[in-house]
Amino acid sequence: MKSKFLAAWMLMLCILTASVPLHTQASKKTVSKKVTSLLDAGEDITSLGEFEATFYCPGHCCNGGYTGTALGTALKPGKTIAVDKSIIKLGSEVIIKYPNGKVARYRAEDTGGAIRGRRIDVCVASHAEANRMGRQKIQVYIVK
Ligand SMILES: [Zn+2]
Repeated sequence: MKSKFLAAWMLMLCILTASVPLHTQASKKTVSKKVTSLLDAGEDITSLGEFEATFYCPGHCCNGGYTGTALGTALKPGKTIAVDKSIIKLGSEVIIKYPNGKVARYRAEDTGGAIRGRRIDVCVASHAEANRMGRQKIQVYIVK
């Protein structure tokens, strides 16, 4: 009798676990190999879902004369991103998946007046590149 009850309980637990929406349990197992290939041994990720990306260059045109990031580090095109620090903690390692399938790993070291909520500003090498990249819907993962 007791084992039958246990089996029913286990079954119910399985059903409950399986019905949890995928995005809340994103981990190495549930995202593409492209994303996990950017992780070091022992690292895992949490999905934050969809954000809107814009792009900025280190020049005065985009960065208003600031020469460093909000954390006081140097702006590194292809590595530095600006975030809303109430959403993504400064210093976080962040993986972005672009609509064209490209994935890249960044560090959240900067902030910006217009970067609020589900917005990320990606530092790129030139103003022309920033213009070319435009605005994109991206998938965001935090490395933990
Ligand atoms: Zn610029």
